[in-house]
Amino acid sequence: MPNGKERDKAKRRERFVNQDEVEDAARQEARERAELKKQRKREKVARKPIPIMLPEYITVSNLAIALHVRLEDFVWKMQELGFEETNHDFILNSENAGLIAMEYNFDPIIDRGDSEDLKARPPAEDPSILPQRPPIVTIMGHVDHGKTTILDFLRKSSVAATEHGGITQHIGAFSVPMHSGKTITFLDTPGHAAFLNMRQRGAVVTDIVILVVAADDSVKPQTIEAIKHAKAANVPIMVAINKVDKEEANIDRVKQDLARHGVDVEDFGGETQVVCVSGKTGQGMDELEEAAVALSDVLDMRAETDGQAEGWVLEASIKPVGKVATVLVRRGTMRPGDFIVAGNTWARIRCLRNEAGVEIEEAGPGTPVEVDGWREQPLAGDEVLQAVDEQKAKIVVDYRLEREERERMAEDMEAINENRKVEQEKRDREKAEAEAEKQGHALDIPEQKAGGPKQVYFIVKGDVSGSVEAVMDSITALGTKEVHPHILRSGVGQLSEFDIEHAAAAKGQLINFNTQVEPHISRAAEQAKVNIINENIIYRLVENVKAELSKHLPPLITQRVLGEADISNIFSITVKGRQQKNVAGCKVRNGVIGKNAKVKVIRHGEKVYDGSLASLKNVKKDVMEIKNGAECGMSFTDWFEFQVGDRIQSYEQKEEKRYL
Ligand code: GDP
Repeated sequence: MPNGKERDKAKRRERFVNQDEVEDAARQEARERAELKKQRKREKVARKPIPIMLPEYITVSNLAIALHVRLEDFVWKMQELGFEETNHDFILNSENAGLIAMEYNFDPIIDRGDSEDLKARPPAEDPSILPQRPPIVTIMGHVDHGKTTILDFLRKSSVAATEHGGITQHIGAFSVPMHSGKTITFLDTPGHAAFLNMRQRGAVVTDIVILVVAADDSVKPQTIEAIKHAKAANVPIMVAINKVDKEEANIDRVKQDLARHGVDVEDFGGETQVVCVSGKTGQGMDELEEAAVALSDVLDMRAETDGQAEGWVLEASIKPVGKVATVLVRRGTMRPGDFIVAGNTWARIRCLRNEAGVEIEEAGPGTPVEVDGWREQPLAGDEVLQAVDEQKAKIVVDYRLEREERERMAEDMEAINENRKVEQEKRDREKAEAEAEKQGHALDIPEQKAGGPKQVYFIVKGDVSGSVEAVMDSITALGTKEVHPHILRSGVGQLSEFDIEHAAAAKGQLINFNTQVEPHISRAAEQAKVNIINENIIYRLVENVKAELSKHLPPLITQRVLGEADISNIFSITVKGRQQKNVAGCKVRNGVIGKNAKVKVIRHGEKVYDGSLASLKNVKKDVMEIKNGAECGMSFTDWFEFQVGDRIQSYEQKEEKRYL
């Protein structure tokens, strides 16, 4: 029986055990709770797409790596999504790459670096509170209708002409002060080219088009074209019927013709003002200017004179002071010392000049101004934007140049993908051919043609299509009239067993440029007695191929006469006791006649025999050679038609190996 002390002990133990269990259970519960919390968090995280920066172009394999997906699974997914091109080296654009990334719960962010570019400010919320700016007017119309004459007339009343003794310089635009105190800016280049050029570059610089129509000629093709362009650019038109001083002038006809071509002239209830002018006499010119002011009042052109300056390059040229460009300020005010960016170049404004060539302190909206201080020449139509400092200007230009490079790459990308597709198709075809070959179908094994150059066959393989093409070009250029390299096949990649089989069957050779030749391929080629020209430097490869081609060149044969003899009589001898045989009795004229040398027999300048001596005797003794002046008997191998008077030439022939 346990005593009381022991009982207490046992109870305590029991309590401890119970307490342990309780604690264990509590710990377990806490663990489970924590695990659940973690799982919930994981799920929450899993559901939230993970942001990922993607470049503008990425290959399939690199995208798979970036998304942490096995390439095989990735390709499956792509195919499931309907992508046809799933080769590992196919280049995806950011749009497609982004779509695929989203499938893997990524939030694609395309790295275009746009934040580095400069942009125009958003339009003012309430333009009506901004200061008014001069309207910008372009003069358009058919050739010879008087555009230049009108511009010249207007120029005479320009700021420059009135304030600086009539001297104006062509800077692409000029400003004309009106009686009302307002100013109109005229673009100085008549015609459509300038307008179109600017429009194509996204710049609608003009607020108003003055359409010049000659009263004696009415609407002509370029008039119609000008109407079309102005309407397309949504620029209001004013009509100047010119040459009204002329007798043949027919104003009504012009109005009717214009109406027929969609110009809603005032007289017919429309809104388009028509002013009759004469660029020659100046008649109606004030009216024209006033009409332009009236129209601009209606249009109510306003712009900020402060904040980031913006504008367009009207034209650029190189003058004695350096690279200059006329900028038509659109918003803000440009001042010397400002940094501006246009297209792919920038300037720290060295000075601003107006159309009189006079330096001005500042140029506000609607003012054309010649800017000096460009790093590179900007282009007409480039948008001009002010940068806060030189560093920003440089960053923007660098970024734009890089963007251009990327855009070029985009075009190249199409070509690269196309090339890769073609190569893949070629590889597939090769595979199919190999299969066909294995199953006993015929291969492309050319026959050596009789006559013509000797064909030497090659199969070309290389690391990339560019080098394969370069190798092929260099090799094909080696052909001559005697020997010609014939390329049976070419492709990108390592040499394959099929290449060896094909080369062996066609008695050709393999060219391997800049790829590893697998040991089993080397062995197989050796067994099949197929030569592999293996190089990674093109000129050495060319040398090797030249050497191979040279082996097929016929040798260079040179002959040297060793001695000559004349046949002076023919006598018959009995051979082996019974056979009669003719022998030529000769006298050596010069040199030495050797028994083993080759001989030619010449009769009346023509060769009648070329062969060797059957016997050479001095009196009755066989000799190895007979010298100049001596007499001898000769017979020829299988030839008996010699005659008295024939000349015998003993000669040696050398064969020299030739090289390409
Ligand atoms: P553009 O080709 O449109 O620039 O036309 P021009 O301004 O060179 O003018 C063509 C010809 O028309 C020139 O010989 C001008 O002298 C002549 N011309 C221009 N305006 C008038 C005018 O109002 N009246 C007359 N009679 N001739 C004019």
